[in-house]
Amino acid sequence: MAERTIICLRCPRGCEVTATLDNDGHVASVCGNTCKLGIEYATQEVEDPRRVLPTTVRVRGGTMPLVPVWTPTPIPKSRLLDLARATREIVLDAPVEIGQVVIKDWEGLGVDLVASGEVERAR
Ligand code: SF4
Repeated sequence: MAERTIICLRCPRGCEVTATLDNDGHVASVCGNTCKLGIEYATQEVEDPRRVLPTTVRVRGGTMPLVPVWTPTPIPKSRLLDLARATREIVLDAPVEIGQVVIKDWEGLGVDLVASGEVERAR
């Protein structure tokens, strides 16, 4: 059986957690965790790793040329680059407000891209 050792990031303690995988690549057991959150973390990280994407998109007619955006819901790690590339094509018209949804339900993954900053319209 294969093993993967990772650092649990659910709390500052940072336990070194080892997941043992079955032949299908699923987590069969976890050791090294101090609490049950470590089991959840290791299972998610091995079977379906996800990340929050923070990036920027362009703004037309604003006081700033870019606005920060992010995915409040983590997306599959394997799709991070695809979404980052998609954001390069986006140009928003100022004003942009915090919390404005830039992309709704990207590729049906249930993940929104949302503005985390604001840009006023240039005078
Ligand atoms: S296993 Fe529990 S105690 Fe250890 S880092 Fe993860 S959340 Fe913190």
